[in-house]
Amino acid sequence: MIALSLAEIAAVVGGQTHDIPDPSAQVTGPVVRDSREVVPGSLFAAFVGERVDGHDYAARVVQDGAVAVLASRPVGVPAIVDDVQTALGALARHVVRRLGATLVALTGSAGKTSTKDLIAQVLRRKAPTVFTPGSLNNEIGLPLTALTATEETRFLVLEMGARGIGHIRYLAGLTPPKIGLVLNVGSAHIGEFGGREQIARAKGELVEALPGDGAAILNADDPLVRAMASRTKAKVVLFGESAEADVRAENVRLTDSGQPAFRLHTPSGASDVTMRLYGEHHVSNALAAAAVAHELGMSAAEIATALSEAGSLSRWRMEVTERPDGVTIVNDAYNANPESMRAALRALAAMGKGRRTWAVLGKMAELGDETLAEHDAVGRLAVRLNVSKLVAVGGIEASWLQLGAYNEGSWGEESVHVSDAQAAIDLLRSELRPGDVVLVKASRSVGLESVAQALTEAG
Ligand code: ATP
Ligand code: MG
Repeated sequence: MIALSLAEIAAVVGGQTHDIPDPSAQVTGPVVRDSREVVPGSLFAAFVGERVDGHDYAARVVQDGAVAVLASRPVGVPAIVDDVQTALGALARHVVRRLGATLVALTGSAGKTSTKDLIAQVLRRKAPTVFTPGSLNNEIGLPLTALTATEETRFLVLEMGARGIGHIRYLAGLTPPKIGLVLNVGSAHIGEFGGREQIARAKGELVEALPGDGAAILNADDPLVRAMASRTKAKVVLFGESAEADVRAENVRLTDSGQPAFRLHTPSGASDVTMRLYGEHHVSNALAAAAVAHELGMSAAEIATALSEAGSLSRWRMEVTERPDGVTIVNDAYNANPESMRAALRALAAMGKGRRTWAVLGKMAELGDETLAEHDAVGRLAVRLNVSKLVAVGGIEASWLQLGAYNEGSWGEESVHVSDAQAAIDLLRSELRPGDVVLVKASRSVGLESVAQALTEAG
């Protein structure tokens, strides 16, 4: 963070100061909401959570070196009192305005974190880059991330999540991006939004917020994203596999180990990429990252090298572990939606050539009216890809997965439905043989990472 005095911070957020003996005391950062992360120089933001109230930690964090507390009421130690979320947002806006960094924001239904991690790994080869840790993409995580930038930061890469209309507009107002990227409009949270058009409306707020000298980076392969071109005054840059894309992939294939390879074309040249990440959905993510990097002046060769060396920075996303006994576990238990289920199954099929493959799948949440059809379709795809065994885990949605597989033909006993994670672990522990490949994937709420972890340790 850039150093600011308490007086400056109070003026920026328009808050009242309480119990501050020295208004010129400097906050050097970081700004944190977790009392355990306080170090000397911190500003502590006291949020009222469901289980804990940050205000209860005010005395403790000041003892630990926090310069002051951002609080919604006086707390008996140095405090700037205001609505904490609004104050945090105002502070972030003030700080990014003073920074010389170029802001890159991205949103989409699936792949935000994966793509943000790719963008960061490409851009940081060129200049100091700060980016969202994990998936902290909401009205609190985003300003906290922005506030970690320093004078040295050249690129600030921010993930923006939306659970409704107006959310992205709010986030883009806090940290106004120069480059805005929209990945896709899928079915994530479709139940909450009430339809794909609504999701597109919400995600498109990002390109509406861009300035005339900015760049809107849009997925040419997704019609609802492509159509956002008419909603921005920024230059439009298209990425994708379609011929009209400015940044595109040719000769896309999966290597025998399931890793995507392709020839990257940007307006400045072409170069070959073989990714370390698994799953063909990363082609789209990589092209999006390449388009951002191209816009920021990197050559096709530099981008291709960075993409080929990029690893996963976030856990449980197609995390591949080879057990000593030759069983391969693919942990993609972080989350699931229909698009990523299909991509993960295709990666499993590619990795599992000549081997026995298992798909341990649970429900995809928040699909509204499409729930039954989407689970049925995933079950069918598993059969068409010749996955050897489907283990559907959980309640009614899991039974639709199994039924889809059954109705696609041939199987019967090769697909099983078990009630919970423990049952899946027990089954797989007794059935796995050397050489098998196991994919574990479901929505976050199912918590299938316990299965992946138990199987990883069992080897
Ligand atoms: P969240 O909304 O939870 O923050 P996210 O948009 O950040 O999610 P990731 O965490 O990158 O997305 O990935 C979530 C899931 O989607 C993972 O299982 C991943 O394999 C899959 N995924 C990643 N990229 C894509 C893509 N381009 N299309 C479809 N699925 C994808
Ligand atoms: Mg995310």
